[in-house]
Amino acid sequence: MARQARAESRIIGLVPTMGALHEGHLSLIAQAKKECSPLIASIFVNPKQFGPNEDFAKYPRAFESDSEKLKLAGVDALFAPEAAEIYPKDFSTYIQVEGLSERLEGRSRPGHFRGVATVVMKLLQIVQPHRAYFGRKDAQQARLITHMAHDLNLDSEIVTRPIVREPDGLALSSRNVYLNPAERQAATVLHRALEATKSELARGVRDALRLKEILQHTLHKESLASVDYAEIVDADSFEPVVRVSKACYALLAVFIGKTRLIDNLYVESKSPDSDELVFHL
Ligand code: AMP
Repeated sequence: MARQARAESRIIGLVPTMGALHEGHLSLIAQAKKECSPLIASIFVNPKQFGPNEDFAKYPRAFESDSEKLKLAGVDALFAPEAAEIYPKDFSTYIQVEGLSERLEGRSRPGHFRGVATVVMKLLQIVQPHRAYFGRKDAQQARLITHMAHDLNLDSEIVTRPIVREPDGLALSSRNVYLNPAERQAATVLHRALEATKSELARGVRDALRLKEILQHTLHKESLASVDYAEIVDADSFEPVVRVSKACYALLAVFIGKTRLIDNLYVESKSPDSDELVFHL
């Protein structure tokens, strides 16, 4: 299908997922559907991006309903390989995006980004899409893949799309099903902390230490929450900043009970010479 589409100069799209599909995934599909034909989705719970004490075995799997959702959304083909297809016994080649892989998510989840970069590289090689779509929910992942695509001269454009949220602000995630009702309520604290930071920025506060204090203060008020990291970082390097003067992320990783959730606020200047900021929550 892909070879024929390429011969006909059509735009091939890929939306990689780990399944247990929700509206966040479907928003990527909807955008890709507008821009690409054929549109291919993948479902692969990639063992190589989970640490030994992480939730690979219990990660939600819902293949039948996922296939149904993809069909309804107009996806032309679903690629759902077995682990042995992606990683045969003699598999021994990995992609390491240096620097970016070791910070924040990478520090908390050693080996995670090596697994992500490797599987995404394989998916891009197999499907050869013109465009591949990723959510800003996983901001560091999206940045890492964009960087990899640039470093390795890949022929796929990496498209990053906004975060889809529940009405109360919780970012949609396949892992939200782990939350019990009290934890589900507590989980809104990530969004509340980011909102508080946004308000400070909108008031003109640019000092990153002050903004970090706001994040921490809001998060610490929630007794079920335990902060892994809460940082203000440069949107390209993901290194901490002292002041917010160009595109930045406020990035959160927070345990709610045993469930680890991530979220972020993306901030950029309205125009190159403007002090005014635009917020993407
Ligand atoms: P996953 O199945 O968790 O690996 O996610 C597959 C893709 O969907 C990744 O590019 C994610 O960033 C994206 N995604 C997950 N949750 C959301 C969300 N709430 N809003 C937008 N994109 C999302």
